[in-house]
Amino acid sequence: MRRMHEGHREIIGTFSLTTKPHFPAPQMAQRVTLRKRQPYNTTSSRRRIVKTPGGKLVYHHLKKLPTQPKCGDCGIGLPGVPALRPRQYATISKRQKTVCRAYGGSRCGDCVKSRCVHVLPQNVRYLKHSNSILRAFLVEEAKIVKKVIKSQQKAGGRK
Ligand SMILES: [Zn+2]
Repeated sequence: MRRMHEGHREIIGTFSLTTKPHFPAPQMAQRVTLRKRQPYNTTSSRRRIVKTPGGKLVYHHLKKLPTQPKCGDCGIGLPGVPALRPRQYATISKRQKTVCRAYGGSRCGDCVKSRCVHVLPQNVRYLKHSNSILRAFLVEEAKIVKKVIKSQQKAGGRK
């Protein structure tokens, strides 16, 4: 191909200025054939035309775009969990696919906080916007206190 072009240039060079300039016929655009057996031009079958080092045009068949796992309540992408194609999740370890928290790989942190508020006893609800760890600790404390009071009452009843 390249040689032919050079040949044309040489011929053009030999023409005198009085003759009409000779333009080589425009070359047909190279046809590009699919490399996969899926002929449908759908939104998910995406391709890119790439020129190889040899000057040929070939298709690069692109993979589907990954989507991030979403929070089941508010729908935002879960922070800390990568967006991958399904088979790629099998190649990474579990700690990369979840967050070390209750509802870790399923709900976002804010939603977990608001969920906790519904479960909480009335006296702890003022902690709505504070640290969830602190609140969880207080809930556990409240449970222990209740137990202690119960056992004391029982003990008192026996006496
Ligand atoms: Zn959420």
